[in-house]
Amino acid sequence: MSRPVLFVIDDDVGVVHALRDDLGRRFGEDFRVIGESSAVAGLAMLRKLADEHEPVALLIVDHDLSEMSGVGFLACAHELHPLARRVLLVERDYSARSPVVQAMTLGEADYHLTKPWMLEQDLYREISEFLADWAKDQEAGFELFHVIGLPQDRGTHEVRELLTRFNVPFRFHTADGEQGRHLLNGKGLDTSRLPVMIRHDGYTMVEPAPAQIVAAVGGSTCSEVDECDVVIVGAGPAGLTAAVYAASEGLQTVVLEESVSGGQAGNSPMIRNYPGFPHGISGHELTRRACEQAWMFGAHIVFSQRTADLARRGDGRVVRVGAHPSRWPLDRPPLPLETSMPGVFAAGDARYRSIKRVASAVGDGATAVRLAHEYLAAGHSDELSPIPRG
Ligand SMILES: Cc1cc2nc3c(=O)[nH]c(=O)nc-3n(C[C@H](O)[C@H](O)[C@H](O)COP(=O)(O)OP(=O)(O)OC[C@H]3O[C@@H](n4cnc5c(N)ncnc54)[C@H](O)[C@@H]3O)c2cc1C
Repeated sequence: MSRPVLFVIDDDVGVVHALRDDLGRRFGEDFRVIGESSAVAGLAMLRKLADEHEPVALLIVDHDLSEMSGVGFLACAHELHPLARRVLLVERDYSARSPVVQAMTLGEADYHLTKPWMLEQDLYREISEFLADWAKDQEAGFELFHVIGLPQDRGTHEVRELLTRFNVPFRFHTADGEQGRHLLNGKGLDTSRLPVMIRHDGYTMVEPAPAQIVAAVGGSTCSEVDECDVVIVGAGPAGLTAAVYAASEGLQTVVLEESVSGGQAGNSPMIRNYPGFPHGISGHELTRRACEQAWMFGAHIVFSQRTADLARRGDGRVVRVGAHPSRWPLDRPPLPLETSMPGVFAAGDARYRSIKRVASAVGDGATAVRLAHEYLAAGHSDELSPIPRG
């Protein structure tokens, strides 16, 4: 198979040549750039590539072709090359009438590029992003794990889901298939206990528990610190944001997450309303970045660790989270977001009458840290400690 194709079409031959040359200079080693200036010739070329099983990575299509609309061309081209990312080429027009606004709203394009373009600021940066997105759907060149199991088996399904949510490249083999049997035999195992996971370095796990899998991919499953300023329960958007703010503001921060990071947002294939990502971003990618950011600031993130209760130190009483104004135990009024347990703040979807949006969870997470500073400054930091389950 030859290099994947970057396909460009515009009625203006000058634009086609300029784009072909600019893309070729930067991406020519890994991709073939093919340019056309008529819709009929363009579709014929794309059909030929499809017949020859030649992959197309990007379809860069001018919105105003004379023979058919750019969106119409993209629809036909995408049928031939469904994995290609659809890029609409438009004039600089930031009004609501720009064709890209409607195309993005109706899901008829994945991205846009504007004419004329600046090489480093626009074209190369944006094309690299589009290609990174396209590459996600391509066969991984390297698998960190082989998973051997049965497709209908619940344990096998859970292992595959956990690895997917951790963004770990793996290959699945059915235990009764040739390759699956070969891998099991190589480890002296049979099909009596499944699933089996084999890491690239040979480390093998049979019927692994979630905590074992997390540890095998490099995540922590127990806290490395005995004391901290802030404990965050849950690594969804609210918890991760709180971790970023708390850790970056010098608070010793521990995050306890019962599963893997991302929360509900981690399951969303595309979040289009989060500010800063005009073409949208997958919930997994957004929360993965937030998790890495919190870690970079020094937050201790503990996966596969469910917090069962919060305990009040001293008298040993165990209390549960849940705001109830009538049960507020102190003379001072509660701080915003503070629950019926002084010093415990509810952020994101967990909060009563929350908005159920990623951005509002993120806002709550940042706000809660500001309030935690206030609470700590008042000298109540030793009132509560979390009790991990198990
Ligand atoms: C499929 C889907 C698509 C969505 N799309 C959008 C969208 O496009 N735009 C948008 O704005 N919103 C969207 N939402 C809503 C958005 O994802 C939520 O509002 C947001 O994730 C809330 O964040 P959160 O951190 O408050 O809670 P969650 O995301 O629910 O995260 C809570 C975390 O806490 C963990 N946890 C819970 N209990 C414990 C415990 N006892 N111990 C340890 N950890 C615990 C959970 O495992 C979870 O990781 C979508 C939701 C779903 C389900």
